[in-house]
Amino acid sequence: MTYQGLLHKYGYLLDLPYYTQTVSLLEGNTPLIKADRLSRELGGGFELLIKYEGLNPTGSFKDRGMTAAVSEALGRGATTVICASTGNTAASAAAYAARAGMKSIVLIPQGKVAAGKLAGAIAYGAQVIQVDGSFDDALTMVIEITNKHPICLVNSINPHRIEGQKTAAFEICDRLDSAPDWLCLPVGNAGNITSYWAGFKQYDEMKATGLPQVLGVQAAGAAPLVAGHPVEYPETVATAIRIGKPARGEQALQAAEASNGRIIAATDEEILTMQKALAVLEGIWVEPASAAGLAGLAVEIEHGTLNVKGKRVVAICTGHGLKDPEIITHDMQKPLIVPPRLDALEEVILG
Ligand SMILES: *Cc1c(COP(=O)(O)O)cnc(C)c1O
Repeated sequence: MTYQGLLHKYGYLLDLPYYTQTVSLLEGNTPLIKADRLSRELGGGFELLIKYEGLNPTGSFKDRGMTAAVSEALGRGATTVICASTGNTAASAAAYAARAGMKSIVLIPQGKVAAGKLAGAIAYGAQVIQVDGSFDDALTMVIEITNKHPICLVNSINPHRIEGQKTAAFEICDRLDSAPDWLCLPVGNAGNITSYWAGFKQYDEMKATGLPQVLGVQAAGAAPLVAGHPVEYPETVATAIRIGKPARGEQALQAAEASNGRIIAATDEEILTMQKALAVLEGIWVEPASAAGLAGLAVEIEHGTLNVKGKRVVAICTGHGLKDPEIITHDMQKPLIVPPRLDALEEVILG
């Protein structure tokens, strides 16, 4: 049967109102890719699988929650959606609003959004507004305006987003016939880790698929859940998780604890090293934030604090590398220029 999107496939498992009217771009159904070379690089002896969420319609996992949130909003008769975003939520909200014939407004922190994400939001026709402040400031503003005006909030404090994002856990269990031993993923505003845990728990209750231990990874410069308090000026190259006051921080900590896992931090250097390793060893190019889960796994393995021998680990790679090309091109060496002659090419390649 042809694939018809997440609500068609898993809608019966999601707590969405009866009036929900499906808006889909055939999101989800992303591949789980075996990463044997990277597994060996990390010491080997375990099975590593990458859930490549960058292959969603707008290039990140945000589409899973957005199909649910915009479908609910449309069914309710909303005409405008709004969100605060570090970029990917903006692109996703704008695309699904366009698909639904609705207007979208996105608030982004000034100058801190990767080019591919901003371009997406604009291309899909969103009204893009920069806030002279942080993501956390922008989120406060959209909450205030939606309390006052009939505009639908589609940040992950919208419960329908969380429902939609549970489908990633369902897909993993359906593919593997059980939950993995460990799940590692980046943590920003903490909606995704909350959704995965809810999804795995629901499937386990229905089908006894078991539960993973969850390793949530923040960027060291934006690690409020590790520090135990909000971070006023979060800083990291991983802009998608550059968040100092996670809206679902409590739930993230609960998920980590209940799963017998934990939330840790990885430095920007560790994140960028992993981004590169994933691309050159496996051919999977992700944006920096997306490599954080794996970077944290590498740190834990190296420190001997996580024994993965004989285990099955699923790493969530949340967004595509094309979203943030500058991080690669910024300080790269310009490719060599040769005259258009075979001997010149031979000299460069063969020495
Ligand atoms: C949104 C996002 C995250 C963080 O997800 P949260 O639900 O905010 O924790 C991580 N990586 C990418 C690429 C994202 O777009």
